Amino acid sequence: MTEQFDVVVVGGGNAGFSAAHSAVEQGARVLLLEKASAEAAGGNSFYTAGAFRFAFDSIDDVADLLEPDERYADSVVPAYPESAFEDDMRRITGGRCDPALTKVLVSRSTDTVRWLAGKGIRWRLLYERQAYLSGGKWVFSGGLFVGTVDGGKGLIARHTEAALREGVEIRYGAEVTELHLSDRGVTYRDAAGAEHRIQAGAVVLSAGGFEADPKRRAKHLGEGWDRALVRGTPTNTGDVLDLALAAGAAPHGDWGSCHSVAWDAEASPTGGNRELTNQLTRQSYPIGIVVNADGERFVDEGADFRNYTYAKYGQDILRQPGGRAFQLFDAKTRPLLRKEEYDSRPIAGARADSLPELAERLGIDVEGLRRTVSEFNESIVDNPFDPAVKDGRAARVSPPKSNWAQALDTAPYYGYAVGCGITFTFGGLRVDESAQVLDTDGKPIDGLYAAGELVGGLFSGNYPGGSGLTSGAVFGRLAGASAGAPVRGS
Ligand SMILES: Cc1cc2nc3c(=O)[nH]c(=O)nc-3n(C[C@H](O)[C@H](O)[C@H](O)COP(=O)(O)OP(=O)(O)OC[C@H]3O[C@@H](n4cnc5c(N)ncnc54)[C@H](O)[C@@H]3O)c2cc1C
Repeated sequence: MTEQFDVVVVGGGNAGFSAAHSAVEQGARVLLLEKASAEAAGGNSFYTAGAFRFAFDSIDDVADLLEPDERYADSVVPAYPESAFEDDMRRITGGRCDPALTKVLVSRSTDTVRWLAGKGIRWRLLYERQAYLSGGKWVFSGGLFVGTVDGGKGLIARHTEAALREGVEIRYGAEVTELHLSDRGVTYRDAAGAEHRIQAGAVVLSAGGFEADPKRRAKHLGEGWDRALVRGTPTNTGDVLDLALAAGAAPHGDWGSCHSVAWDAEASPTGGNRELTNQLTRQSYPIGIVVNADGERFVDEGADFRNYTYAKYGQDILRQPGGRAFQLFDAKTRPLLRKEEYDSRPIAGARADSLPELAERLGIDVEGLRRTVSEFNESIVDNPFDPAVKDGRAARVSPPKSNWAQALDTAPYYGYAVGCGITFTFGGLRVDESAQVLDTDGKPIDGLYAAGELVGGLFSGNYPGGSGLTSGAVFGRLAGASAGAPVRGS
């Protein structure tokens, strides 16, 4: 028996829920199919810190969205106009972001965040992640300031409540296995293995990338990527991407690169931890040094604010011996580390009263580390240290450390072992400005829309932090509106 809906949404993360809300606004009867069980649902979006990048000319313009916080009066939040967001997209991707899609992402970012607030999503300034106390003020930097209350868990809880309130029908344990373009439908398999056929006015694909499939990773990203640690949902295996490509959708963007970060070296390789979620990330490396097992540095830890380097440094860690690296700090810098990440337990790391002892405990070559630290400590320029701004306190070694260099010289010493955690893949489907999927001749495919990670063309090689959730919401909202429009029209 074939069931009928106006819009069927495939995948229940931030993009899928955004599409569902938006289709309902058009009067559509919406079915959302989610491969994971209800207990494992929410996709990668569930595991996030809930950080959203969006543009504003003054934080006061969006202050009405933010939960009250007694620190607000003592906060310095720089303006982040659309031009700065667009510049960041171009700069960080090396110019390899689709200009039309980037324009949509940036220009719709702010009103989409406001729209989500109308659906019940709650917002706050991310003091613990995006600000340092400097001169008695909370100084924010890096174009990313606001996130959801309770991170990804709060985001998915509020999305789900809103969808149920709106009358969206959600089916969990429903894995889409076929796409039927001729009658705009899908087939899905339920948890008991039974197959079901859905016919709809339109289909929205929001089923994530291929980051959780080691074989597809090795095929597209290259050798070694099968050994990366999956940070989020184990269900984003790229099957729906392949279904769409087989049906004639055009691929778009950079299929050979992805978002990957420093991630607890002992974390599960096959998927994230639903309790700790993003706490397994290790993102305070700009104020320390990072070495490999030979004791050698291999990246400029202070090249830019964390938001602009973290998503490309995972691949550098993967290339090190054993695919591991070690973030090192001392008594001076340890108090500045993000508490939710470095005070989280369990943690792969060690503390010691001397550097040779730390090296031995972590499995780092003692002599190699001694040489690296000694050269590093002697090469630091004498600028005042200030983690809230690019302070120019550089270490003139190879590779250089461009900002925030502090001599590693005060016991006790702390080291954290990290591996390469893969977040999501950058290659995806080609869509137009209304989120409609295009075929390989560049023509829109009737009734087929896409949003979120499986849209290609926005990111390449690197990524400005907080853009993934914004992209899912912006293109999800557009996809739902386009998919549901014929219902309103009729
Ligand atoms: C640990 C972590 C932290 C992050 N932090 C941030 C952050 O703070 N800010 C930010 O912007 N981004 C962050 N990201 C990236 C962000 O998660 C993604 O960009 C975004 O959530 C993608 O949303 P989505 O809806 O496209 O995919 P998802 O949220 O992954 O949803 C896709 C859904 O599709 C389902 N699915 C897959 N295949 C099928 C199928 N065959 N049938 C039915 N359903 C299917 C999956 O089960 C999944 O639930 C983070 C990611 C991780 C892993």
